[in-house]
Amino acid sequence: MEKYVSDLMAGVKAKNPGESEFHQAVQEVAESLTLVLDREPRYRKAKILERIIEPERVIMFRAAWQDDKGELHVNRGFRIQMNSAIGPYKGGLRFHPSVNLGILKFLAFEQVFKNALTTLPMGGGKGGSDFDPHGRSDAEVMRFCQAFMCELFRHIGPDTDVPAGDIGVGAREIGFLFGMYKKLKDEFTGVMTGKGLTWGGSVIRPEATGYGAVYFADEMLKTRKEDLKGKTALVSGAGNVAQYTVEKLITLGAKPVTLSDSTGYIYDEQGIDRDKLMFVMDLKNNRRGRISEYADKFKGAVFTKVDPKLDYNPLWNHKAECAFPSATQNEINGKDATNLLRNGCYVVSEGANMPSTIDAVNQFLDAKILFGPGKAANAGGVATSGLEMAQNSMRIRWTREEVDARLFNIMKNIHDVCYRTAEKYGTPGNYVNGANIAGFTKVAEAMLDQGLV
Ligand code: NDP
Repeated sequence: MEKYVSDLMAGVKAKNPGESEFHQAVQEVAESLTLVLDREPRYRKAKILERIIEPERVIMFRAAWQDDKGELHVNRGFRIQMNSAIGPYKGGLRFHPSVNLGILKFLAFEQVFKNALTTLPMGGGKGGSDFDPHGRSDAEVMRFCQAFMCELFRHIGPDTDVPAGDIGVGAREIGFLFGMYKKLKDEFTGVMTGKGLTWGGSVIRPEATGYGAVYFADEMLKTRKEDLKGKTALVSGAGNVAQYTVEKLITLGAKPVTLSDSTGYIYDEQGIDRDKLMFVMDLKNNRRGRISEYADKFKGAVFTKVDPKLDYNPLWNHKAECAFPSATQNEINGKDATNLLRNGCYVVSEGANMPSTIDAVNQFLDAKILFGPGKAANAGGVATSGLEMAQNSMRIRWTREEVDARLFNIMKNIHDVCYRTAEKYGTPGNYVNGANIAGFTKVAEAMLDQGLV
């Protein structure tokens, strides 16, 4: 089997040169799947994994727009339609200067398994652009979103492909994108999720990923007859996922002490409470300022600028029982994992996608801590997007309590299926194997049923 994985990876690297994040994501999944491929030769015979690795369709296009000074800009747009075996393509759009084909393929690949775990009928996709919204006026962001949608609209639809937000794409961007789609298609459909509440959005969608990551951590703790109450938590990021992770941690009696953005991080030994969180939400969502302002505002909090040349991130070097990486991929490397473990961390719930390197993941698994991989722990966002799609199709709206209860149940089910699957395949407590195998099996069965397409 080792040879199967190394041959597979050699092929993936040769066919997808330079796409290191995509290689990393495939490698992690392939290693887990050896357990199931050994038991189920029919999956290997039908080359299911080889087919899942190849996107069904990749769309790449130009998005040209004009800034407020009249200068012209050319960005690149992408949509990766990875797998539609169990439903329409579903996954977010990311606007960040680092976006490239390899990053979006890794995200789309992860999304296939994650969406399968939610039990909702959603295939996997991802998209975005190397456009950087930082420092851009609302009018510039609108013009870019319109240029982007002028091409994307012909490839998506409520039964084909339903994008949502991700890094750099929040409520403002979804509004501009949806507005242009509606104008071009002349129809009001649930083609995007994360919409505003007055025009088809679901309550709890903004909160869902962060809430879900905390629910997942709590479920993992329950297996050891513990909960989050009184535990200290390190949280990275200061965007959508980080904000609602902090909110739910506070609700469940934990003490979040850090937040970060691309400039550095704040450490607040007293804990981030609701008032301080409100300040962060206004800072990030309305004023679009830097996290350092937190330390200017609140006594006792310290801002540390993070030097990108450092080979570790000091955020992960504080005493805490829990870590919720909620910024971006590969933000916890091997050194960070060592620091976390040394400082007593034994719960890691990944709000971000693939925030831990393979070295870091292996350290967590070897140390037998409670490690919830992103494709399980952060599935609450896409699950609630699925609930938004259901409400749009039925033209009804559920209440906050109803959606939150459904989200909680979905996260509990995802936890339980990962836990049980890990046990079934002889690796108890290994949620990485559990998530990869459970997600894969569902998609694989659908692909077998549907023939070679
Ligand atoms: P946001 O854009 O709302 O926030 C991202 C945060 O992370 C910002 O504080 C940003 O800092 C920081 N960040 C982003 N890129 C980098 C980087 N390269 N280095 C350092 N800091 C960085 O995004 P989300 O909160 O929506 O997404 C965060 C993570 O969660 C991503 O991995 C995303 O894929 C994942 N995720 C999101 C879901 C959702 O529903 N939104 C669903 C599932 C997963 P700055 O402001 O300086 O850019």
